[in-house]
Amino acid sequence: MEEERENPNPLPHVLIFPLPVQGPVNCMLKLAELLCLAGGITITFLNTDHNHRRLLACTDIENRFSKYPTFQFATVPDGLPEENPRSGDRFMEIFDGLEKMATPLLKKMLAPGGMSKNVNCLIADGILNFAHDVADEVGVPVIYFETISPCGLWACFCLQKLIDSGEVPFEGNDLDVLINNVPGMEGFLRRRDLPNFYRVNDLKNHPLVGKLVLENRRVPEARGLILNTFEELDGPIALAQIRCLVPNVYSIGPIHSYLKSQLAKTQSITSKDSTNSLWKEDRSCMNWLDQQPDKSVIYVSIGSLAVMEKHQVIEFWYGLVNSCRRFLWVRRPNAVIAGGDLLNEEIPDEIKKATEERGCLVSWAPQEDVISHRAIAGFFTHSGWNSTLESIVSGVPMLCWPQFFDQLVNGRMVSEIWKIGLDMKDTCDRVVIERLINELVEEGKREKFAGSANELARMAEQSIMENGSSQSNFKRLVDDIKSMVNVNL
Ligand code: UDP
Repeated sequence: MEEERENPNPLPHVLIFPLPVQGPVNCMLKLAELLCLAGGITITFLNTDHNHRRLLACTDIENRFSKYPTFQFATVPDGLPEENPRSGDRFMEIFDGLEKMATPLLKKMLAPGGMSKNVNCLIADGILNFAHDVADEVGVPVIYFETISPCGLWACFCLQKLIDSGEVPFEGNDLDVLINNVPGMEGFLRRRDLPNFYRVNDLKNHPLVGKLVLENRRVPEARGLILNTFEELDGPIALAQIRCLVPNVYSIGPIHSYLKSQLAKTQSITSKDSTNSLWKEDRSCMNWLDQQPDKSVIYVSIGSLAVMEKHQVIEFWYGLVNSCRRFLWVRRPNAVIAGGDLLNEEIPDEIKKATEERGCLVSWAPQEDVISHRAIAGFFTHSGWNSTLESIVSGVPMLCWPQFFDQLVNGRMVSEIWKIGLDMKDTCDRVVIERLINELVEEGKREKFAGSANELARMAEQSIMENGSSQSNFKRLVDDIKSMVNVNL
């Protein structure tokens, strides 16, 4: 209260709390930077200790954000031992530890007088239900930022409808049956395209389902919902449906290219300077790409959380080699389960030789730069939403190998609706991979995808320009945040 007397027009203070994994942390840091550039808002970004250490070790984040006087980081332990992989089938372990550790801290931070400047708004990942509970308790408004795809989110919002109609759990083993109870997606969404938790028989006891039921109840209660997409991409299907539940949707993406365009206006910065990677980027692959012909390289990555089995690595490798294409493949540390990555003696000589001739392997790539490089012909991807958007922005067609959650819906949208790629979900066979890679990029065939890929890239660019849909939505978000300043002083 004393602060209020001293400063009758304090800046609004936003606390940003991402799900502590690469995709959401990256997106929310970009949102934080956009809010910094918009000006007039104080921002606290809550990282886990584990991720913050990694960001400090792998990026220049401290230096970059020190330019913004109204920005600060705060950290909280995630309750997990350092060696926990926080990915693959250990992913769910993130939630319990985090809830235990973050709840008391959030209570303190959000309570009046809990921070040097009171918090006026919490921007949190929708799956972090406990954060919403705490904000409600102390009367701080919540805006959700769901960093997964809107189409995947919509399929999650339909959980109860799918259960009530008896469409899930599935009866029988046929995964090609069409789904009727995800409105807007009738006619193309099959059982196999739903987020993978829908495949279990015992839905009630699935650890994620309980969280989603709560999330589905909570999201419509929030002040608004930020989504990383643009109206021209998701407006007709997913956004039209989501708006029936949450009228106030801010679609402000593709957030990575929006931030890049805003940074370009204010300072000379390259994406090399603005990475939010939790792994050290190996930029040597950019030199390698510089030496490759235009549209000749397949870029391969399964993102930050998905894992592979050894035999799948071998199928990928043979598929790539047998396609006779050049390839740049991200082989993330700890991404191979069951006994770890292949030993040198387990790799057939023919594969080694072909890789030396026309392949490049790195442990983590500067992906935004890679995808927009002129040498990239196609992206063999796990269909994570950030990767999908990055590919869309660069007009690069995709071969989709979705593994979990929204990725399965994304793969279907890419192949059936946006027509910018092929979906090979539920298979991992060298012959199929070879055939589909060639279908994606071979002259005479790739033209099928090029038209729609270029058109979507053009629309993405328009959305972030002056008066474009995403830019207008972002401005509205900033205005709405600023109007919250008097809510809980
Ligand atoms: N990424 C990267 N370098 C890599 C692989 C991935 O910078 O070698 C980034 C990529 O640009 C994207 C994020 O990691 O922004 C992965 O997010 P996505 O939503 O695609 O998948 P997730 O990791 O959440 O499964």
